[in-house]
Formats: sequence, C-alpha cells, structure tokens
Amino acid sequence: LYPMRLQRFLARAGVASRRGSERLMTAGRVSVNGVVVTELGSKVDPERDVVTVDGRVCRIDERPFSAILNKPSGYVTTMSDPFGRPTVAELVPSREHPGLFPVGRLDQDTTGLLLFTTDGDLGQALLHPSRHVEKHYVALVVGTPSERELDRLRRGVMLDDGPTAPARVELIPHDDPRFSVVAPNGAGRRGSGEPNAVVGLTIHEGRKHQVKKMLLEVGHRVLALHRDAFGPLRLGDLAEGAWRELTEAESSELT
Ligand code: URA
Repeated sequence: LYPMRLQRFLARAGVASRRGSERLMTAGRVSVNGVVVTELGSKVDPERDVVTVDGRVCRIDERPFSAILNKPSGYVTTMSDPFGRPTVAELVPSREHPGLFPVGRLDQDTTGLLLFTTDGDLGQALLHPSRHVEKHYVALVVGTPSERELDRLRRGVMLDDGPTAPARVELIPHDDPRFSVVAPNGAGRRGSGEPNAVVGLTIHEGRKHQVKKMLLEVGHRVLALHRDAFGPLRLGDLAEGAWRELTEAESSELT
C-alpha cells in the first residue's frame, strides 16, 4: 500500500462511500495520528498513519469482501433496525467483515439475490443510474396480464415518481421450474388452482417498490416477488437464507 487520499482510504476501509467519507471529513469527524483533518486533498500512508472516525480506528482489510445472499421473506434490508425487526445483517458474516453493506434494497417480503460488499466505491458505482445494472425479477401476480398490458410495461408506465424506462417483460408458464415463486399463503404452488400468473421483468432502474408499482399500474397486484439476477450475478442453487462469497470472475465482471 502507498500514500492515498484520505477519502479513498476511508472508502476502502468500509467506513462509507468516498463521497460519504468526504462528508465525514468536512464534519470534523476524521483524525489522522490524533489530529482532525478536514482538508479533502490530504493523503495518508495506510501502513503508518492511524486514522480514526469518531475516535474509532479504521483499517483497510487486505482485500474487499463481496458476497451474495439469497434473502428470505421477512428480513429488512438494513444493517441495523431501530424497530428490532429481523435484518439481513443477521444472515451475512457482518462481524467478520466490518463495513459490509447491502448494495440496493429488497422489500421485506421480497426474496432473492442481494449483493453485499465492504467496498464503498463499488457499491456506490453499481447503484449509480448511469451504470444501468440489469436486475431480473420474477413476480407472482393476481390474474393474467394481457399482451397489451405486457407491452405497456415494456414501453414504460407512469408511476408517482415519473415514467419507468423500457423493460424486458415476459409471461412465464406456471410449470417452468426455473422460475417458481410461491406466495406466503401458498398461491402459485403448482396445482393450487389460483387464477394467477408469473411474470419475468428485467429492469435497470431501482426505484422504491418499482416492480410492484409497475404491475399494479397495469392492474395486477403482486403476491410474491423474487430477484434471481443482478448484473452478471446469478442466484443459481444458493439455498434460501444462505450466502456465498463472489468468485474472482464475478468480482472482476462487476468492476
Ligand atoms: N421492486 C419492488 O417492488 N420490490 C423490491 O423489493 C424490488 C423491486
């Protein structure tokens, strides 16, 4: 390691993104060798200097750690919840990897692929709208969308926070084993006889409740939602509630 800008050091140490680290510095919360540093151009030697944030020492892990989780329903996407609800932090090795945080968010009742990383810059970059990271969702909905409704979703629909970008949308046969999604009440289970349909959507935006709102906008309430792909990452056969570290190949594809 070599001298580097303090905000880069803090991001690599998993304290915050580079931007967030700059804000911490400006707020006077960062010290180097006991002296508060607010100058954004300041450099540190990661091997010699002692950097603290709010008095806590920060270190760069040998290398960033990134993992995917198959999120079960019922867990909130946050590393700590003031209301005491179950959080995804309980399901990933957050103690062994300080600074681990989720890249984006899945609703409490949404299942599937959630990426975690200690690399603040990577997380920030992947969330930036200009990156257009594609996410694939499988939704179990009430009723069966018509071809016209599917086309509306493909072109984009108007939500309360603006129009959605064009999306790839397909109706998935109920008996396609690659895309089974079952609601908590059992709807969607094969042979349950419910008048429901399974819809696959690929979107690159990440607005709050976006998929549920899009489908509701064309008249179909979502009963269960599952994400099985995030950019180049695939959930594969990772069990629900389990995590695994990214492979070298996956990591390099992401950056
Ligand atoms: N869209 C939603 O509505 N919910 C999610 O959790 C993810 C995408």
